[in-house]
Amino acid sequence: MKSGETRDTSAEGPDIKDLSKRNPIGKVAILDITDKMDLSDELKAYYNHLEMLVLERTEELRSINEQLQKEMSRRERAEQLLRHEKDRLQNYIDVVGVMIIVLDTDKCVSLINLKGAQLLGYDKDEIIGKNLIANFIPKDEQNKLNAQFSMCFKGDLTRNYENIVYTRAGEKKLISWTNVPLLDEQGRVIGCISAGEDITDIRLSEKKLRRYADELKCSDELKLLFIDILRHDLLNPANIIKGYSEYLLETMAREEEASIVEKIYHQNEKLIKIINAASMFGKLETTEMINFEELDLLDLLRKVSSGFAPLLEKKGMTLECPATGSYPVYANPIMEEVFSNLISNAIKFSPEGSQVVLDLEDKGSSWKVTFTDSGIGISDEHKEVIFTRFKRVSGEGTKGCGLGLAIVKKIVELHGGEVGVYNNPSGKGSVFWMQINKA
Ligand code: ADP
Repeated sequence: MKSGETRDTSAEGPDIKDLSKRNPIGKVAILDITDKMDLSDELKAYYNHLEMLVLERTEELRSINEQLQKEMSRRERAEQLLRHEKDRLQNYIDVVGVMIIVLDTDKCVSLINLKGAQLLGYDKDEIIGKNLIANFIPKDEQNKLNAQFSMCFKGDLTRNYENIVYTRAGEKKLISWTNVPLLDEQGRVIGCISAGEDITDIRLSEKKLRRYADELKCSDELKLLFIDILRHDLLNPANIIKGYSEYLLETMAREEEASIVEKIYHQNEKLIKIINAASMFGKLETTEMINFEELDLLDLLRKVSSGFAPLLEKKGMTLECPATGSYPVYANPIMEEVFSNLISNAIKFSPEGSQVVLDLEDKGSSWKVTFTDSGIGISDEHKEVIFTRFKRVSGEGTKGCGLGLAIVKKIVELHGGEVGVYNNPSGKGSVFWMQINKA
């Protein structure tokens, strides 16, 4: 600026310092404020720079804040997920069929699933924090279990082992355990996860099965012994009777006596046949062991029933067999034994003077044979069990050993047939039936 020139400073506002130096006689002193102006520009620039910086920082802060909020909601979601996963895991271990216990290195329970708590008979909260061995294991088993957990804490995955636990009700349960060490992030053992299965009932069943198998073996041996007795001790006297009756038949002159001896001979022959059949039957394991031949059921029925004539006469009873024609089947002659048992029972359990009817029906692919009596009948509850060995309906005052119907059932089943009983439709007595395939 040239000397004498004034400078308009109104735009910048009054300079307080300059006014104070105004000359009292009206002259205006000219001051060089170039430096001041420069300073002011500098200040302005600095101010602008500062404002820029503040704006930049504010922007940075805003972005950091945004990121922070994003991070916070991400973490919140992750925590929610974690909580959800933890609940899901708890649900999983609660529904598994074995007890799961997590122990710390002091053998105190830090987690137990629902199954475990139920098995011990407590609420989960009552078990958490308690020493497993001191509180739930019998004294004489504690050392064994301590040793198992020590192995686990050394990092061993323990094989299955069994021990007793006490329940709240004082019951003893046999548990099969598997232990797995629980490790932290650095791989240090911080506890043990144990899975235990209640095998109390399994062990009991195993014991029962073993006992049953022993009994079966014993009864099998008894059966074989019985068959041997049947063969040797019954056949011997029967063969002696056979020999003597043959001799008498050859030498006897009087016809009346000879006919009696003949009957003895035939009945003895039948006895020998039955002993042989029964001992063979006792040793039968499969149907492959019996021979089948073509037989006629009606012929067989008539033949067997004729042997009962004396007994029927004694009781004043009659036996009807109205069927005619032929009824061919493939069967073993042991089938006679079936008819004989059923006819004998029908007579045995019927009143004097009553009637027994034997009949045959065509059932398409099979024949049905019925044995109808008007006897004491069989209640519904006994209709199945009487076909089981040694089962008799008590109180009817008749002799017997309860083997007959079991033999009947076995023989019929070996022929692929069926057997059963229902009430006599006339209202009194029973109808025994058997069905067998046509030849
Ligand atoms: P047992 O006649 O030697 O006792 P069974 O096995 O032949 O042996 O018969 C078993 C039981 O079934 C008999 O004791 C009897 O109670 C009952 N039972 C068999 N047949 C008849 C029948 N026709 N009427 C009434 N009860 C019968």
